[in-house]
Amino acid sequence: MPLIVQKYGGTSVGSVERIQAVAQRVCKTVKAGNSVVVVVSAMGKTTDGLVKLAYEISSNPNSREMDMLLSTGEQVTIALVSMALQELGQPAISLTGAQVGIVTEAAHTRARILHIETERVKRHLNQNKVIVVAGFQGITRTEELEITTLGRGGSDTSAVALAAALRADFCEIYTDVPGILTTDPRLVPEAQLIDEITSDEMLELASLGAKVLHPRAVEIARNYGVPLVVRSSWTDDPGTWVISPTPRPRALVNLEIARPVDDVEYDTDQAKVSMLRVPDQPGVAARLFGEIATQDVDVDLIIQSIHEGNTNDIAFTVRAPILKRAEAVAAAIAPVLRSHKAAETEEAEVMIQQNVAKVSIAGAGMIGRPGVAAKMFATLAEAGVNIKMISTSEVKVSCVIDNADCDRAVAALHTAFEVGEVGADKSPPSSPSSPSSPSSPVRGVALDMNQARLAIRQVQDRPGTAAKLFGLLAEHNISVDMIIQSQRCHVINGVPRRDIAFTVARMDAQAAQKMLQQAAVEYGWGEVVLDSAIAKVSVVGAGMVGQPGIAATMFEAIAHHQINIQMIATSEIKISCVVAQEEGVKALQAIHTAFGLAGSQSIQVPA
Ligand code: ADP
Ligand code: ASP
Ligand code: MG
Repeated sequence: MPLIVQKYGGTSVGSVERIQAVAQRVCKTVKAGNSVVVVVSAMGKTTDGLVKLAYEISSNPNSREMDMLLSTGEQVTIALVSMALQELGQPAISLTGAQVGIVTEAAHTRARILHIETERVKRHLNQNKVIVVAGFQGITRTEELEITTLGRGGSDTSAVALAAALRADFCEIYTDVPGILTTDPRLVPEAQLIDEITSDEMLELASLGAKVLHPRAVEIARNYGVPLVVRSSWTDDPGTWVISPTPRPRALVNLEIARPVDDVEYDTDQAKVSMLRVPDQPGVAARLFGEIATQDVDVDLIIQSIHEGNTNDIAFTVRAPILKRAEAVAAAIAPVLRSHKAAETEEAEVMIQQNVAKVSIAGAGMIGRPGVAAKMFATLAEAGVNIKMISTSEVKVSCVIDNADCDRAVAALHTAFEVGEVGADKSPPSSPSSPSSPSSPVRGVALDMNQARLAIRQVQDRPGTAAKLFGLLAEHNISVDMIIQSQRCHVINGVPRRDIAFTVARMDAQAAQKMLQQAAVEYGWGEVVLDSAIAKVSVVGAGMVGQPGIAATMFEAIAHHQINIQMIATSEIKISCVVAQEEGVKALQAIHTAFGLAGSQSIQVPA
């Protein structure tokens, strides 16, 4: 008999009526000849309410007690859903995470699932019962049997992990929107439904702020090949399928902490173009990349560093054969930009570096595990490789290095991450097929208002600096996104120094700043600057690979509204910009429109 795991989010079980509607749907699924395991969230905004209570008692609540508290929300729902099913004559039993045997690591408030014991669930399934499982929670298998939670939004992860462990036919995520949309319909009501999306694209969107799916749920679906669909619990519409490539077989142990890196990739045919001291004002990036797109030059990585004074540095990589064209555009545009800025500032300058290579580590298991990037930097440092540029995405970290260091870097990374076969020189993938041929190379736009930016001035430009810095953050379990090194180099006492900036989750920002200030004293770094009033807007789409002009369209949309871009970082399938916090929503709306993603109908989100 087919087995389906259905997960219902907070709004979908937010009232007695909603719970009864859920029970009806579950019964219908059973009557259609399926076995059903149901995973539920806490009712409505229950978890938020519990968090608030905790903070009324303590400004820094104990994480073990926090798990004890937050796990109660889901326990209410499982009992009520089970009763509602029984009322309909459907045998059902509710189980907590502990009763199922959802075994996690002992990390309170952010535990990862290690494995799921399936015997009890299977026994009840054989008795033709529907099993109603509390999402978001697990248990440690240490002596103490501690209750853990998986992190906010974690019920999605519980559901997909159960589907993987039970080898379910598919996993349905029921929520309050019709599926995965081109952006959050609460911010852009004209957002449109996406019928199918690749797990790579969804991983990026989810981790860049689209909370419709927990990124770790997408990671498990991708690693174990779980067919996953997001649907509305208000309608029978088909929703959005998340498509994963056929995975390599994996054991169902260490579910969320298996080997984080699947591949080491490299490309030796790159060149880097840097424009130093371009004016820090709206429209500059739009102008530069607009011109580059007109010349049909496809740029790979782009970074724009934090500004020093009133100028920025913008750097990008291109494939070596088109360097001449890129260089010509940059050189032609530099004087134009120069004429825009105040006379007393220094002149803009174009700098070319040939013979550079890009090395990347890739794998869905690096999500939320800051130690992975830190290990890459440490490995490169040990091999004596200096990093010129860093670009990160949720599933990939790329470093631009000297071509001469490439073989050594790749060999060291293979050993460090135990990646078997030495992969071939990988040129950028030719447009990976998006499932339904999308009309726009951009599939979705996301906004993350929960980020902060940290910058450290004048860190030494030599092997080992990034390793030290991100190693420290990793030790404190602080995940970093958008790492940017300034292209400008100051030589102080014979040591070249650069600024380095990155974004972290806002809730980690102050702790990170404090810790880095201490490190700065020890290592002789400059000032550690924190800006919490930022927003990160991102576009994601597999179809943007090898297609010039996407960055230009995004930057133009932002510039059109006179919004200044503070930071830019790209990976192969995403472009992210940091803007001032109060301009985040406006930037999101502008970009969504610019890529023609708006539909003619408004999406209504149930209250
Ligand atoms: P649940 O309680 O069902 O887990 P969530 O609130 O966690 O629901 O996630 C659903 C919400 O995600 C939607 O109501 C919507 O506001 C938000 N969202 C953000 N980005 C997107 C997107 N790209 N597509 C759909 N929903 C999105
Ligand atoms: N109830 C938890 C939360 O609100 C888990 C979830 O809903 O996914 O974060
Ligand atoms: Mg959710």
